[in-house]
Amino acid sequence: MAGILFIISAPSGSGKSTLVNELLRLVKGLEFSVSYTTRGLRGSEREGREYHFVTRERFEAMIAAGEFLEHAEVYGHYYGTAAHTLEDAATRGCDLLLDIDVQGAVQVKEKRPGSVSIFILPPSRQVLEKRLRNRSMSEGAVDDKVIELRLQEARKEIENSPVYDYSLVNDRLDDSVDHLSSIVLAERALRSGGALSPEEQRAVAIAKICSQRSGPNRKLRAILDTFGQAVAN
Ligand code: ADP
Ligand code: 5GP
Repeated sequence: MAGILFIISAPSGSGKSTLVNELLRLVKGLEFSVSYTTRGLRGSEREGREYHFVTRERFEAMIAAGEFLEHAEVYGHYYGTAAHTLEDAATRGCDLLLDIDVQGAVQVKEKRPGSVSIFILPPSRQVLEKRLRNRSMSEGAVDDKVIELRLQEARKEIENSPVYDYSLVNDRLDDSVDHLSSIVLAERALRSGGALSPEEQRAVAIAKICSQRSGPNRKLRAILDTFGQAVAN
């Protein structure tokens, strides 16, 4: 039986990598989907750990051969999830965590309607800017233009967030990790069809708070308001 696909997306700087790393550390039986990309290695990245780094020619050959579950062009580079990644995880009896953008999330949802999509929201534009600046400073280069572009991109991504099954605001890290792992545990428990343990009941209650399936997310409007008017382009 195929495992559950969990899709996570977020504007850059929202804290997605931090949350994903914590989730993978805490929740057993969940594997990270290593995507293929045509962008170069960054910092301490290693081939096969963060990504499979391939040439544009190889990526296009993989598209032609129908090897991708989904793929998209993000910031001028190709990124894609190979179908074999899902099969490999299912063979090992694991669920899979996909860290992909909104375009990819929409494609996966179409092909695998049973997948679970989660959007990580920053608390506000101001907090997102601070996190982007802090991270850039710790990496040794702050480029105001890049930060402004990321903030404009963030607004567009947040506007698309209602298509996701769940959303959570990454304000306090501990709470966000708790909410994220609750969503995973709740989806597993509800699909198993058995009686729920007290821990599973708690997870289901928390997941319900993060669910967008039952109606619009009230917090979303307030967060979008902090981004002000959209910039025409
Ligand atoms: P992303 O993967 O979404 O681009 P990162 O995980 O790299 O974001 O986080 C961006 C920055 O924000 C990092 O410096 C990280 O330590 C910090 N950060 C992440 N989550 C929180 C949080 N809940 N509170 C404060 N800082 C956070
Ligand atoms: P980065 O280059 O910073 O690692 O990632 C840039 C963006 O590409 C992020 O939004 C990330 O979620 C997205 N991304 C990474 N892998 C994939 C993938 O396989 N498919 C799609 N559609 N997006 C991806």
